[in-house]
Amino acid sequence: MQKNLGLYIHIPFCKQKCNYCDFYSLGCNENKIPEYIEALCTHIKREAHLYRNYQIDSIFLGGGTPSLVNEKDFDKLAITLRECFNISPTVEFSLEANPGTLTEEKLNCYKKNGVNRLSIGLQSTNDTELSVLGRIHNFDEFAKSFNLARQCGFANINVDIMYGLPDQNLANLSKTLGDVCKFSPEHISAYCLKIEENTPFYKIRENLILPNDDEEYDMYIYLCTELKKQGYEQYEISNFSKKASRCVHNLKYWLSEEYIGFGPSAHSFFKGKRYYYENNLEKYLNSLECVDNLPKKHYEEDTSLEINSTDEYVMLKMRLSDGVNEKEFEDKFGKSFTDEYPRILSFLKDNYVTYKNGAYAFTEKGFFVSNYILSQILKFN
Ligand code: SF4
Repeated sequence: MQKNLGLYIHIPFCKQKCNYCDFYSLGCNENKIPEYIEALCTHIKREAHLYRNYQIDSIFLGGGTPSLVNEKDFDKLAITLRECFNISPTVEFSLEANPGTLTEEKLNCYKKNGVNRLSIGLQSTNDTELSVLGRIHNFDEFAKSFNLARQCGFANINVDIMYGLPDQNLANLSKTLGDVCKFSPEHISAYCLKIEENTPFYKIRENLILPNDDEEYDMYIYLCTELKKQGYEQYEISNFSKKASRCVHNLKYWLSEEYIGFGPSAHSFFKGKRYYYENNLEKYLNSLECVDNLPKKHYEEDTSLEINSTDEYVMLKMRLSDGVNEKEFEDKFGKSFTDEYPRILSFLKDNYVTYKNGAYAFTEKGFFVSNYILSQILKFN
């Protein structure tokens, strides 16, 4: 039987850079997209033989803004994927889209090429907040894009929202969540704003009025509680889904399953090794110019240690609401979970961690401080 493999493709272009974004994407470089798609197809064709014993069960086009790619280039990429990979008939094929870049023609093109999940980057329904974030769209454009996607037959849509924004309070967040829930997306991802270095927000961080830790905590608990009431299951720290709509591709990251990435900054985990391509579009394009050449893979140090590392397993599994199952841990590592990580027991009494059906998992309040708790229980400390 063929093994399953996830496929990630990075599209490093955006109309403009958002003020908080530290993903690898270039603003105002759309004229490079055709050349980039050509290079991606070359890269995929040159490497495809490595994956012929695998079946692709998830494809994720992320970025950047994949919905900037026009229909002609998208067709070219999709044809290459079909020619080069054995794609499962039940593949989850996700594409990240930004409101203001979607058209009926593009949506029909995605549909025709097998895309069956859209992830729309909304962030907020408050136009002032969107403008502060540097987003190119307003709420009205999101509504049009979402409704158009439904009309074109997309029955699995994720909406990204953010909390902890400058000048945001619980009332603003509640309005955003209420507005989003009216669209009934199958999946909602809710991320807390982090001020990352090398972003415009970082430069003006002293002037931003951000919610304090208590306010952020209230926002997070509000999101978890309200989404549950609205019929969403929280299956990961930041991810909520309606029945059977968990993101297959993202689950691969947390379950340490294999995936391969193409494009600058794309990461892979294949045959026990983790590697990534450099964040550099020009180098990526140049590396594919010579016949038979490939972009350099940067292998992460200590990879062989990481694969067997119980720490990595625990860190990734604890992101999920299913947590770490004692029996699965023992079967995999031949050791008792609580013998290895006895300090987790001290977080049971204050309800940061629960023990249910043989698994230890974070509660909502535990998720909010999960980095701290993990720093207390993992061995590398
Ligand atoms: S649209 Fe997304 S990837 Fe592009 S700059 Fe904004 S946050 Fe970054």
